[in-house]
Amino acid sequence: MSRVDDLLTLAEATPGFMPRDEGLALHEHALDYGAHVSGGTWLEIGAWCAKSALYLGAAAEASASVLYSLDHHRGSEENQPGWEYFDPTLVDPFDGRLNTLPCWQRTIARAALESTVIGLVGPSQVVAAHFAQPLDVLFIDGGHAAPVAWADYEMWTPKIVAGGLLMIHDVFPDPADGGRPPYEIYCAALDSGRFAPRAACGSLRVLERLA
Ligand code: MG
Repeated sequence: MSRVDDLLTLAEATPGFMPRDEGLALHEHALDYGAHVSGGTWLEIGAWCAKSALYLGAAAEASASVLYSLDHHRGSEENQPGWEYFDPTLVDPFDGRLNTLPCWQRTIARAALESTVIGLVGPSQVVAAHFAQPLDVLFIDGGHAAPVAWADYEMWTPKIVAGGLLMIHDVFPDPADGGRPPYEIYCAALDSGRFAPRAACGSLRVLERLA
């Protein structure tokens, strides 16, 4: 198998919340962008155990780009005990809190992507306020609570360069299918006139930053 095939297979086997077709679409769009712009700076919000970081990281490596993978690694609301997406194996016995960082690190090490996928550990809003580098690719896949999703949109999307990609996960136009904030920020991006829709796959939306 090729290096990319290896990484995509590993991505599929990594715990997380991204169906295979959406992960492959994420990879393909990033790969296509990287074919035109090498050495780029990419960032994903919401890392969990590095599943999407592998789909994106495989494309980043192919274009000599760097992917920052940002997460506080304490899980979102729906990952906490008693909620739908709680995984007791990810609780740190030291303090009883959810901690996905060890899983994330093991995944990146196993993928041998440690020089391509760089972890940023902390609250998205704090990192955004101090992150000055323009972004070629931004993938928003963080918390779904309205204040969190809107802060991710408002603080990170202005950093995207003209022609750059904005990808958003968990966009569900029908409220019966899931929470609304990712859909609302997707609509806001379109309404802003700064982004044009490029593609969709499942709940993944791909937009391009206009000049
Ligand atoms: Mg997601």
